[in-house]
Amino acid sequence: MATPNDDTSATQTPPGLPTKGDVAGDAAKKAHAGEVEMIIDTSKMNEGKRQALELTEASREQQWTKPSFAQQLFMGTFDHALIDDFPVQSAADQAIGDTFIKEFEAFLKANLDPEDVDATRTIPQAVVDGMFRMGVFAMKVPKEYGGLGFTQVNYNRVMMMLASYCASTAVLVSAHQSIGVPQPLKLFGTEAQKRAYFPRFRDHSISAFALTEPSVGSDPSKMTTTAVPTPDGKHWIINGDKLWCTNGPIADLLVVMCRTPSKIVNGKERQQITALIVEGKAPGIEIVHRCDFMGIRGIQNGLLRFKDVKVPFENVLWGEGKGLKLALTTLNTGRLTLPAACTGAAKSCLSIVRRWGNKRVQWGAAVGQHEAGRQKIAFIASHTLAMEAVTWLTSHWADQHDKDIRIEAAMAKLFCSELGCKIVDMTLQLRGGRGYEKASSLKARGEDDAYPCERMVRDMRINTIIEGTSEIMRLFLAREAMDPHLKLAADMIKGHVPIPKMMRSGVKLAGFYTGWYFSQWFNSSLWSQHDDLGKLADHYQYAHKTAHRLARTIFHNMGLYRDKLERKQVLLGHLMEIGTELFAMTATCSYARMLERTKPGDQGAIGLADYFCREATRRIEAHFLALSDNDDRMMNHLAKSVLAGEMKWMEEGAADCFPEQG
Ligand SMILES: Cc1cc2nc3c(=O)[nH]c(=O)nc-3n(C[C@H](O)[C@H](O)[C@H](O)COP(=O)(O)OP(=O)(O)OC[C@H]3O[C@@H](n4cnc5c(N)ncnc54)[C@H](O)[C@@H]3O)c2cc1C
Repeated sequence: MATPNDDTSATQTPPGLPTKGDVAGDAAKKAHAGEVEMIIDTSKMNEGKRQALELTEASREQQWTKPSFAQQLFMGTFDHALIDDFPVQSAADQAIGDTFIKEFEAFLKANLDPEDVDATRTIPQAVVDGMFRMGVFAMKVPKEYGGLGFTQVNYNRVMMMLASYCASTAVLVSAHQSIGVPQPLKLFGTEAQKRAYFPRFRDHSISAFALTEPSVGSDPSKMTTTAVPTPDGKHWIINGDKLWCTNGPIADLLVVMCRTPSKIVNGKERQQITALIVEGKAPGIEIVHRCDFMGIRGIQNGLLRFKDVKVPFENVLWGEGKGLKLALTTLNTGRLTLPAACTGAAKSCLSIVRRWGNKRVQWGAAVGQHEAGRQKIAFIASHTLAMEAVTWLTSHWADQHDKDIRIEAAMAKLFCSELGCKIVDMTLQLRGGRGYEKASSLKARGEDDAYPCERMVRDMRINTIIEGTSEIMRLFLAREAMDPHLKLAADMIKGHVPIPKMMRSGVKLAGFYTGWYFSQWFNSSLWSQHDDLGKLADHYQYAHKTAHRLARTIFHNMGLYRDKLERKQVLLGHLMEIGTELFAMTATCSYARMLERTKPGDQGAIGLADYFCREATRRIEAHFLALSDNDDRMMNHLAKSVLAGEMKWMEEGAADCFPEQG
């Protein structure tokens, strides 16, 4: 029997310290008042980095009512009760999704050729019109405002199907709905704004989200697009450039992130980033360039220039200075679309390798029957199940609205986008030369199996870049994973705290950390069997034990590196990958058990979960090993030499295609 979670020490409050609720509440109050509670030492940072960090810290979401499974993992708590009963859709909600998906899929097959979209860089207007008629652009709009009011689960089911059929069309719908106007409007809009804008998404209004600028990518703190109030206070005037704005060239409505006048808080200047709803056809907006990409070639994505664009003052979403927090909060749910899209593509890959693996015979056997082929097929099947598990778990949790899912959503995005790239690449490889040939070319020379593998690779590649690159996801996870430690032990971790203050904090914390640290060695993972997991019990037990090992390892490294830990990105990356794999293992075991229970007959889900967990365990052990057995020092040294130009001689021999610029 699995024992109920008894590893509570991580959530205990150290004597003399404020409770977690107090700390979060305090931080929230301060953030509300425009103050930034800096628990990270910024004293040794350069001005640019300090400003970026302060702005990002002020924009972190801090209110929630239920704990995060994944964050607790990093503190050594394996709260499997949060995952044991894998959520299932109600019959009524499932029926809504089933009917819609069936109709939509039939519509797509009858009207849209994804190869043509790729070749012509065009999604036919008739298809867009048809999708408007079906309500595709209003799936997330609440019913009371004329939308379909879909749950996150149904929305993601639709996006999974759509992305597997035509990635460009999926990005059009997702940029509009996952990050464009509907999502932040639903979360932060006033009643008047909702009444004004929601109905337009049933009636031909496409939206876009404009944050990125030519010099502003992962770090929005240097944003240069400005919105300045007019002297009469009735309007904002926007000036600046926004790059890579998906749907931008065709958008009727945009959420535009702008720098608004700074405020002085406690004698210090506080930067303000504000989200504004802007009409896409407003005078002064110029589409400077439509960008062309390696994949998702049908999307309309461009460089937009705003020149004295006048926007009514009341078009602020949520409040002045809350733009970045709005963007981060929107993305917490918004980025759940990408795992669904990647899983859809992985399912298509599974279908391709099953067919081609059986059909193509070389060296006397079908290519899928050679062991190297079987390895790919087993990997794709088992890891697709894991991708599906984290996608549905996080989607259901998003629908429950009370859980802190920031960490799990980021993990789902990181896990599914990285695996998606690996899976499409493996599928292309199993197809051999046909994998590299365009589907249109295969068809033109009479091949029956014109699978679009090369397009799938090109379309998939963007997913590790948009809505937070994989590197930024790992840093985001590290910040959130460390949060409980940072709140508790800020003074111990900071480098510049005076010794007496540090000692006082040390005494207060000693009580807590003594008990906590002891419990990371001696805890229920030593005797919990998790027998109710049947064949998967060993994997649950491993995850349980390894959560404690992970927490100990994080703690040791915090002690070792203190304020320098944030610069140890490779080390943090290993730790975050371990946490992500543990989350995926637990979710996959629970998902497989649910499938076994609810779907009659042996479908092999348990075997797939078992294989995935074995592979994940090996990766986890490799990450642990790499923490101590690595050449990071040498790697840092070499990279510095290359950047300093000391290895330029290595570039000789290649054509000199890239003349040095100023
Ligand atoms: C097809 C496409 C669609 C897009 N759609 C939109 C959209 O609709 N709206 C919008 O606002 N933006 C959009 N973007 C922009 C996208 O969100 C950015 O490309 C992304 O945020 C990364 O920014 P960047 O490309 O400037 O990379 P940079 O931030 O310049 O990063 C370059 C590399 O450095 C790494 N890096 C950066 N900072 C760090 C760090 N601190 N530590 C370690 N590594 C780091 C990154 O991970 C990356 O590998 C789109 C981009 C593309 C290509």
